[in-house]
Amino acid sequence: MTRRFTILTLFPSIFDSFLECSLIGKAVAAGRIVVERTDIRNFASDPHRSVDDSPYGGGAGMVMKPEPVVEALRQAPDGLRVLITPQGERYTQETALELSRHETLVLACGRYEGFDERIRDFVDREVSLGDFVLHGGEVAAMAIVESIARLGKEVLGNPDSAIEESFSDGLLEYPQYTRPHTFEGRSVPEILLGGNHQAIRRWRRAQRLLRTSRRRPDLLGELTEEDRHLLQEALGQEEP
Ligand code: SAM
Repeated sequence: MTRRFTILTLFPSIFDSFLECSLIGKAVAAGRIVVERTDIRNFASDPHRSVDDSPYGGGAGMVMKPEPVVEALRQAPDGLRVLITPQGERYTQETALELSRHETLVLACGRYEGFDERIRDFVDREVSLGDFVLHGGEVAAMAIVESIARLGKEVLGNPDSAIEESFSDGLLEYPQYTRPHTFEGRSVPEILLGGNHQAIRRWRRAQRLLRTSRRRPDLLGELTEEDRHLLQEALGQEEP
């Protein structure tokens, strides 16, 4: 399937190099993913093409007007409509997986003080990149596009690369090493050099459990007997 994203934004050019570089650039150039940018300002109907106005009730900043955003949402291709807002549900790998089941996603990026509240009635979902505030939704939209695109084979030639990654199954990834064997006195764990693939798999699983229990215990769910055993064993050793 060709994955399609339509991004509604006031700053379409922010995405230029994002869509030209690296793996996303290649997938776009090959037509494996299609990313369309729509300038919300094109849907402003007044002579000044205004997209924002001052808030009712007073207060700092400007609010994005409902008419242009809702019209842009209406004219976007059929697909799941996602409002990008710090007040949405926290975006995680699981959200990426859920959203990836939709062939077409429409991502609406806010600016200024955010969206007029009534716009929320015209979307299917609201997502936040995290508990911090950006100037606009464009950086969040890039994170969403990239995290979803790399789940399929449209972007990663070998989707196995994503299988053992952090969060893919509720665990952080194991430690990775490449050449040189010794860097400033720090050596690669011996087990990775021996070519015993079963032992390497076991070590990596243990490291994933250990790392997650130390850094992100909130991610660790119910462990199988084997994982509990592996973790106990690993806790007795030192994490690289
Ligand atoms: N006044 C808004 C509030 O307090 O919720 C924040 C508006 S923010 C300056 C402008 C736009 O940036 C938002 O409408 C949203 O599209 C985007 N944005 C900012 N932080 C974000 C985050 N953590 N996740 C997703 N989008 C964010």
